[in-house]
Amino acid sequence: MKPKVYFKTFGCRTNVFDTQVMMGRLQDFEVTEDESAADIVVVNSCTVTNGADTGVRGYINAQERAGRTVMLTGCGAHTKGETLFDAGKVQGVFGQSEKAKINELLQRKTRFYELGDLEFIDDNVVEQFVGKSRAFIKIQEGCSFRCSYCIIPFVRGDARSVDEQVILEQVSRLAANGFGEFILTGTNIGSYGQGENRSIATLLRKMSLIRGVRRIRLGSLEPVQITDAFKEILDEPWLERHLHIALQHTSKEMLKLMNRRNKFDEDLKLFSELAAKGFALGTDFIVGHPGETEARWEEAWGHLQQLPLTHVHAFTYSKRDGTPSATMKPEISGAVAKERLSQLTALVDANNLAFRREHCTDLDVLVESVTDDGRYQGYDQYYNKILIDSEADLEGNWIRIESATAAEEYNHAVV
Ligand code: SF4
Repeated sequence: MKPKVYFKTFGCRTNVFDTQVMMGRLQDFEVTEDESAADIVVVNSCTVTNGADTGVRGYINAQERAGRTVMLTGCGAHTKGETLFDAGKVQGVFGQSEKAKINELLQRKTRFYELGDLEFIDDNVVEQFVGKSRAFIKIQEGCSFRCSYCIIPFVRGDARSVDEQVILEQVSRLAANGFGEFILTGTNIGSYGQGENRSIATLLRKMSLIRGVRRIRLGSLEPVQITDAFKEILDEPWLERHLHIALQHTSKEMLKLMNRRNKFDEDLKLFSELAAKGFALGTDFIVGHPGETEARWEEAWGHLQQLPLTHVHAFTYSKRDGTPSATMKPEISGAVAKERLSQLTALVDANNLAFRREHCTDLDVLVESVTDDGRYQGYDQYYNKILIDSEADLEGNWIRIESATAAEEYNHAVV
């Protein structure tokens, strides 16, 4: 009988992709979804904040107590791998560049520590995503920005892009396997092809020509990456009518402190232009970063109210040792940060409801799952959640909803 391997994935979609690659490479092991049945646990870790490290460490300790063999990979291998290895908490540590070798690594009888390099380019092709109706495609790795609060460039390296042919081949295989929606991911996907005479806009056009590709969603873009060439694809029917553009802040001084490349005046112009074209718009925002005084928050708040934001991924700042922000002052109290966070999410929730009330007809929905109470669940082209009551079996299907009602947190339809 083959030994059983359980994968525990922390963090972002890039890790989800990497886990999928590792699962596909295991020949002499069986992947189990039951943690308690596992002989080996592979922890694909995240290290984005000190809190993320704590979560990973706690999980590894629990596995140790349960007597399981633990292997550590992912971003945390670069920051905490050595300590955990030296403490004997993990049997092996390997970096993302080594993941394709997993079948051989897990068979080793001796302990190993192989971080690999941070310049590798992924050429792994994933043909199937277990249990998912949408496929994630990794198009690049790393980031050449240096935002003050972020550790990512130090654990994922500078930006580099996956070969175009590899991406297109992967999309073709997945489309042939029945996937219609593709989500492009990476650390900083808008930097795809930078300096190599390639661009994300050209890649998207080529992807859209592949038979079976119905909708393409993009992970997070940076405002400076919405170039004129990108604007030319905005009317294409295969592009989701939702864009996620990371602002992180809207106060001039805070953007400087955070070493961001965007400026509020330009961001407002860009968002207004995209909203006028009918896009739902999301962003990332960090509240409570050191230096966010009352005056700077007030400035940011005034700006936030002008932005046509329909979705937000907002966080309270969390310290990450080894970054410039970790030593900045004054620190903002957790209670103040939380208050600002709820102010911001309430604003965007209200915007989102207003948007959904205006966009509740002709919704294109990929039905992804069934809820515990038997309703179908999916997302429309504006990346708004919809729950559907139906007698028919809709799971995995694309459907057009002629008319929905906008409930408080999601849309609802009966078909
Ligand atoms: S853009 Fe900034 S926040 Fe995003 S990964 Fe790069 S350095 Fe980190």
